[in-house]
Amino acid sequence: VLSLGVASGKGGTGKTMVATNLAAHAARLGRRVVLADCDVDAPDDHLFLPGEAEWRLLALPRPQIDAEACRAGCTRCRDACRFGAIRILAARPVLFPDLCHGCGACSEACPTGAIRERPQRIGQVGLAPVASGLTLVSGVMDIGETEAPALIRETRLLAGRQDPELLILDAPPGVACPVVASIRGADLLLLVTEPTRFGLHDLTLMLALGRALELPMAVVLNREGSGSADVDGLCAREGVPIVARIPFQRRIAEAYADGRLLLDAHPDAPQWFAALLGALEQLTAQPVARESAA
Ligand code: SF4
Ligand code: SF4
Repeated sequence: VLSLGVASGKGGTGKTMVATNLAAHAARLGRRVVLADCDVDAPDDHLFLPGEAEWRLLALPRPQIDAEACRAGCTRCRDACRFGAIRILAARPVLFPDLCHGCGACSEACPTGAIRERPQRIGQVGLAPVASGLTLVSGVMDIGETEAPALIRETRLLAGRQDPELLILDAPPGVACPVVASIRGADLLLLVTEPTRFGLHDLTLMLALGRALELPMAVVLNREGSGSADVDGLCAREGVPIVARIPFQRRIAEAYADGRLLLDAHPDAPQWFAALLGALEQLTAQPVARESAA
């Protein structure tokens, strides 16, 4: 399986457009493709690739401290928690649920059995066949929950179990933990940017993140012509190739606003995405873009 992270740092650069069209194009070429929508705060790949999803709930074990059974003040639970989710206040352990990652270390460390784990729902993971050869896996976090990385890990696990030839990991915006959970271990990180000051700024952050994670990278320059920021210069200095250029055109924005795949709305789009797949094939030395036998 070739796994490809798609990220942008900045929101609104066209990352979803690139991820969905790339997935659809590879599937139309006869590849077995899974697109994992890891933007669990606000997943929207399904707007471009609608399908009937099968959902299952995801719950994390959350500790509950029995004050009666607690030998107050031993502090082992606090010491075991590397997320700082337990504090000792007035000689009693107090749990801060928003900081808890459900790892179970505190209950294991407690010598009196005062900490029990109860499952607490954090969201759902859905699997939808959306076209021939193309499956969409989406994670959706419940409102008010904070454990995005756990839900993203589950989304990636379910996506990987579908045995894809090409796995596309559509990351959320930003450069924090949810993005890291979405792209870590990918064979290649595709960064979508635009030639604006903001695009350039966030591309710089994403390049640093990609380097920290030791991921090979490539860039898609979207809305080329919409600004004068020197994306070419930055990529040249960083030694990261620009593998596709999508022009700034009204009809592209209209297709996006209508929730239509660019592949179906713009006569040049199949060419753009074929070239992108070809470039990925070269960079990863994997036959992503083979022609369909049909
Ligand atoms: S389950 Fe893990 S993260 Fe949560 S309070 Fe216990 S040790 Fe900390
Ligand atoms: S480890 Fe157990 S006994 Fe010790 S303070 Fe925490 S809950 Fe109480």
